[in-house]
Order: sequence, then C-alpha cells, then structure tokens
Amino acid sequence: MQIFKEKEALQTAVSKLKSQGKTLGLVPTMGALHKGHLSLVENAEKVCDQVLVSIFVNPTQFNNPQDLEKYPRGLQKDIDLLESLNPNLWVFAPTAHELYGDNIISEEFNFGSLGEVMEGKFRAGHFDGVGTVVKMLFEIVKPHKAFFGQKDYQQLQIIRKLTKVQNLPVEVVGCPILREPNGLARSSRNELLDPTQRENASFIHQTLLKSKELFGTKSVNYITDWVNAQFENHPFLKLEYFEIADASTLKKINRKRKGQEYRAFIAAYAGEVRLIDNLALN
Ligand code: AMP
Repeated sequence: MQIFKEKEALQTAVSKLKSQGKTLGLVPTMGALHKGHLSLVENAEKVCDQVLVSIFVNPTQFNNPQDLEKYPRGLQKDIDLLESLNPNLWVFAPTAHELYGDNIISEEFNFGSLGEVMEGKFRAGHFDGVGTVVKMLFEIVKPHKAFFGQKDYQQLQIIRKLTKVQNLPVEVVGCPILREPNGLARSSRNELLDPTQRENASFIHQTLLKSKELFGTKSVNYITDWVNAQFENHPFLKLEYFEIADASTLKKINRKRKGQEYRAFIAAYAGEVRLIDNLALN
C-alpha cells in the first residue's frame, strides 16, 4: 500500500493518475479507524478508480485541548486495517507541520446559520477548523469526489456549503451511518468508553428511534420535552442538546410542513466522552 507523508510526493502520484484518465476519491479521517470509516472507503471504491484515505488528527477543530490530547491514535493499526481491506489504497498521513507550516490556526469562514446551531454553538471554532483542513486537503489532493459520513451530518452540510462558496471542484458524497450491534453509532470515541458506558450509550440511538415514531403523531415540543425527560434521570448519560431540524438548512423547527425533510440530532456525554448521533425522521 502506498503511504504518503509529504504533499509533494502525493501530488506527483495524483498528476500521474489523472494523466491516465483515472478518477480519485478522497476519504478524510482522523484515524482510529472503524467499520464506519471502512464503509466510506467501500462507497468510494465503487465509483472511483483510486481511493485515498487521509489520516490526520486536525488540532484546529478541537475546541477542548483535553479532547485533542485524549483522541485515540494508532497509525500502524490503521494502516494494517486498510491494507487488509485493499492493498491498492493510498494513504496520506501528514504531520501538522506538513499541512499548516508553523502557523497552526484556522481560517475564518461564514457558514451562515448552518455554522451557528448544534455543534457550531456548543463547540466554538470547530467548523472553522474543519473547513480549514478540508479546504487544504481538497486543494492539495484535488480529488474528483470526497466521501463524508452522515454520522457528522452538520459537518457534511457545512462541507457542501464550503465547496459551493469557495468554488472547489469536488463532488461531496454523503454516506449512511454505520452502527454497533446495539445501535450505537460507530465512532473513534467509542474506544474511550468503558463496557458499561458503551452498552448504555445505545440509549442515544433508541431515543432517536422513539422520536421518529413520535414524530408521526406528536408535536416537536412534545417530543423535545419527552427526550429531555428521558435523559434527566439517566445514570450514565448527560444530554447536551436534542434538536429536530430541517434536514438541509438545519434550522430548528417548531412545526412540521408537508414535503420538507427533517432529522433529529443528539449530543450527549457518557462520562467525559462526547457522543453525537442523528436520524432521518421522514
Ligand atoms: P472522523 O475520523 O471521526 O473525523 O470521521 C471521518 C469520516 O468518517 C467523517 O466523514 C465521518 O462522518 C465518517 N464516519 C465516522 N463515523 C461513521 C459512522 N459510524 N458511519 C459512517 N461514517 C462515519
């Protein structure tokens, strides 16, 4: 498997690939790879001649230094996993210096209301960090398509907007959420949970499923109160937010309208570990 640490060598390989008329798909990740990441790679393989997985724990998107420090890392294990999936994959694993030089700071973006709600509200500066690194990767790699999970649904919408406003010639492809057998959305952060927390964290998905069921007959206010009450006395989970929002603008809704698509979103803590999940409601 080809592993690139430097952008120049990667760009040479990309130019050669493109000169052969082949298409390149990029799967950006922060490593600690799991089946959710692998499903993005498999989606990319179906529609691109060559797939590149980037592995980089991007410091500028962490609003909390302890979260960055604790974030699971294991490059060799990631490489072995990708190699066993497909030895023809390419991996880009740069250092922070290779991407940012000496200036590890975010560019400031205006994502409008998309950047102000939920993750944007509770993790100040997070999406500027995400936008910065994704824009850098797109400019270095110049992929035809880039694959992102609906697990980070708001991020997916932000990246669609980023490519539009910055005129980046990349097709952004959203991919479904992969879950553990108990329903918990797969996440690198799940590694930080103890077995009791990991079992109990399936409550997040169960609550989303129940919200979907209630959405057929009950008001948004009713469902929101119901979800808050479910978490209030939960022994292992602390709710940060629950929202029902328009699936494209992510604006919180009070009332359902015909023909619109909606999603429910949850962020909750299991001990110190912050987990997010979401579900389409219709
Ligand atoms: P991360 O390494 O957490 O930054 O995630 C890298 C990419 O994998 C992002 O596009 C995520 O949305 C996606 N991803 C993470 N977990 C899952 C999952 N359980 N199912 C599908 N995609 C995922």
